[in-house]
Amino acid sequence: GRSEMLSMNALPLSGRKAIVTGSARGIGYAIAERLLQSGASVCLWDVDAEALGQAQAVLSPLGEVATAQVDVTSAESTEAAAQKTLDALGKIDLLVNNAGIAGNNAKTWELRPEDWRRVMDINLTGSFLCCRAVIPHLLANGYGRIVNVASVAGKEGNPNAAHYSASKAGVIALTKSLGKELATSNILVNCITPAVIETDILLQMTQAHIDYMLSKIPMGRFGQKHEAAALVAWLCSEECSFTTGAVFDLSGGRATY
Ligand code: NAD
Repeated sequence: GRSEMLSMNALPLSGRKAIVTGSARGIGYAIAERLLQSGASVCLWDVDAEALGQAQAVLSPLGEVATAQVDVTSAESTEAAAQKTLDALGKIDLLVNNAGIAGNNAKTWELRPEDWRRVMDINLTGSFLCCRAVIPHLLANGYGRIVNVASVAGKEGNPNAAHYSASKAGVIALTKSLGKELATSNILVNCITPAVIETDILLQMTQAHIDYMLSKIPMGRFGQKHEAAALVAWLCSEECSFTTGAVFDLSGGRATY
């Protein structure tokens, strides 16, 4: 049984099959690495085929690593990626919705409609479409953990990033709705709200915006990818058992609620 396996020092995610979206680099890559180190098999989902191949090559020594090139804004693409994951790993237990973009920084009334739509499409609709493609498989599996990567911007509303902030507020609400819908299905859905973490995403932002975010963090430093990965790995584990639809702060003390 389970307790017997644990006493044989099995890793916390042994036998678990995971999807991490946007995992060719950045926070998603660090999450995939951490899930592998915790004993899970991982299917890396990303739109960037070249970076996906490189990530798979580097991570493969840690465990079973599959890949699916996917555009999370497309229903067909996410459905095909879910099927590809199932074919490669045999089942799906864990889904981490991490793919996202920052978009440009501008006053709300100066954002172009296409900038607004692109950020909402990837960050919010993308998270919905991945849930839509994967949850039927989690229900068939009778077990699941979903972790959505939101942002402290979704709680507070960052100036010069209304599209990003609104998309992440949407991810928080998506998490809460799903948490209630799946509460008796053995599938828990939670989200994390990082403040600024050092990754390539910062290249999309103005220096003034990065300085603003850093100035709001009581710890006075950037977060690191592995700090996000550690929390996500716990939320993916069986130890996370009486928490769903919840929002986990990862902001060095910035979050006000
Ligand atoms: P990143 O730019 O380093 O990585 C994002 C990954 O998502 C890339 O590999 C990219 O190819 C992929 N991606 C983009 N569009 C996609 C699409 N349409 N389909 C599939 N994959 C796509 O960014 P990151 O900093 O690692 O951010 C990861 C997540 O964390 C994002 O949702 C971001 O909003 C969130 N976040 C980041 C920070 C931060 O400061 N870095 C803070 C809070 C939240």
